[in-house]
Amino acid sequence: MRAMGNWDYSIFWKEALNQLKSELTEQEFAMWFNMEYETSLESSVVVSVPSAFYRDQVVQRYQNQIENTLYDLSGHKIGIVFEVKTRKREEHPAARESGDHPENSGSAARSAPVARVIQPVPRENHPQLRNDYTFENFVIGENNSFAANAAIAIAKNPGLAYNPCLIYGGVGLGKTHLMQAIGNLSWKERGNKVIYITAENFTNEFVDAIKTSTTQKFKNKYRTADVLLIDDIHFLQKKNETQEELFHTFNALYDASKQIIFTCDRPVSELKNLSERLRSRFERGLTVDLLPPSYETRCAILSMKLEQRGVSIPQEVINLIAKNISSNVRDLEASLTKLIAYFELTKKPVTLEVAQQQLRDSFGSPRQKNVTVETIQKVVAEYFSLSYADIRGKKRTKAISFPRQLAMFIAREITEYSTTELGIEFGGRDHSTVMHGCQKIEERLKAEPTLEMTINKIKELIKDYNS
Ligand code: ADP
Ligand code: MG
Repeated sequence: MRAMGNWDYSIFWKEALNQLKSELTEQEFAMWFNMEYETSLESSVVVSVPSAFYRDQVVQRYQNQIENTLYDLSGHKIGIVFEVKTRKREEHPAARESGDHPENSGSAARSAPVARVIQPVPRENHPQLRNDYTFENFVIGENNSFAANAAIAIAKNPGLAYNPCLIYGGVGLGKTHLMQAIGNLSWKERGNKVIYITAENFTNEFVDAIKTSTTQKFKNKYRTADVLLIDDIHFLQKKNETQEELFHTFNALYDASKQIIFTCDRPVSELKNLSERLRSRFERGLTVDLLPPSYETRCAILSMKLEQRGVSIPQEVINLIAKNISSNVRDLEASLTKLIAYFELTKKPVTLEVAQQQLRDSFGSPRQKNVTVETIQKVVAEYFSLSYADIRGKKRTKAISFPRQLAMFIAREITEYSTTELGIEFGGRDHSTVMHGCQKIEERLKAEPTLEMTINKIKELIKDYNS
C-alpha cells in the first residue's frame, strides 16, 4: 500500500489518533479532530480540516502534541501539514457555512470525517437561534475554556451531563453565543426540541398568558422542551409571579431530565429580590463563568471574525484593536465593523493611521471622562441595594463598607479626583481612608477574579447612567 510518493505514514496517523483520543477529553477530541488523512510526503503527513479558522486553532493547540505522538510511534520526525478542504454541507452539516471559501468550493467530496461521534440529522435553521452562534465560531481561550468545554459536553448529552447549567459573566463576553451554540447543536444533530427565550420575553409572554387566560398553553409550551435556554435571568429580579412560574417549569423539566440552561450578568449570589427556592434551583447544577479574554484570545477572535466576513486587514491593526479594547468581545467586533465600513465606503486601505483615527473614540472611552463621583456612588448603591446615603455615610458594617470601598476604587480609576477630594465626596473622610479602601479592593482582586467582572459590570452601568 503506497501513497502518491514513496511514503505512507497512514498507519502511524491512525495510531496517533487512537492515542490522542485516549489522552484528550471526549469533547476536545470530537471538537478538534475532525480531520482526514490525505497523503504522506517525505517527512510529513497531510491531513485536511474543514476551514482556515479550524486549522489555525488546531495548529495552536495540538500541532506539537500530534507531532510528538507521531515521533513516539514511528521513531522518525514526521511533521503534520494541514490542508483546508471544505466538505459539502450534506456530508458534514456541522461545517461552518461562513468558512466556505470560494477557492475551496470545488473540492472533491470525501469520505466521512474521522472523529464524527453523532450521526447528524440535517435540519433547517432554528427559528429562534442565530445560525452563526456555533461552537466552531467560538474562540476558546483561558478565560472561557471551562465554560466552553462544559457547554460542548452538555450539547452532546443534554439533560445528563450538567443540569441545570448557569453561565454568568459581564456584558458582551459570549454568554448568549455559548448558550445558543448548545441549542444549535442539539437542534441540528440530535433533533431535540429547543426553546430559547430571554427572561424578559418569558416574563412578557407569561403576563400576556395571564391576561388572555392562556396560561395552560404557556405551561405546555415550556414544559415540553428537551432543552430550555433562558437568557439574562437577572431580569427576573422583583418579578415574583414569573419567578414562581419558572420555578414550576424548572421542576417539571428537571424531573424529566430535560436540559435547562440559564445565563446571568453576575453571580447568582448577587441577585436581589429573587425567591430563595428559585435561587437554589439556579445553583443546583453546574455554574461556570466567562471572564474577559486575554490579549492573545482577543487577536484570535478578531482574526476569526475577519475571516468570516472575507475581509483582510493588516496584522498590526488587529494588534492595535486587541491592545486597546480589553473589556468585552462585543466592543471588539464593533471596532472591526467600523473599519470594514470605512473600507467599503472609501475603498481606501485600512492602515494603522486610519485605524487609530477611526477608533479614537472607542479607545479613549470618552463617556467615562465626565462621570461624577455622585453618579458612581448612586450606581454602586443601586447595584448592592443600598441607599446613596449609606455609601457616603459613616456606617461601617461589612455590607456597606465593601461597596463603599468599591465605589472609591472605581472613582479613583475613572475620575480625575485626588484621594483628598474623594475623601470629601465620601462623607468627609481623609485621604488615607480612601487609599486604604482602594488597597483593600486591590488585594481582593488578586484573590477573587470574579470581582473584576463585578467592577466591569458596574462601570458599564455607570457608562449607561447618563446616556
Ligand atoms: P453576552 O450574551 O455575554 O452579552 P454575546 O454572546 O452576545 O455576549 O457576545 C457578544 C458578541 O461577541 C457576539 O457577536 C459573539 O459572537 C461574540 N463573541 C463573544 N465571545 C466570543 C468568542 N469567544 N469567540 C468568538 N466570538 C465571541
Ligand atoms: Mg446576551
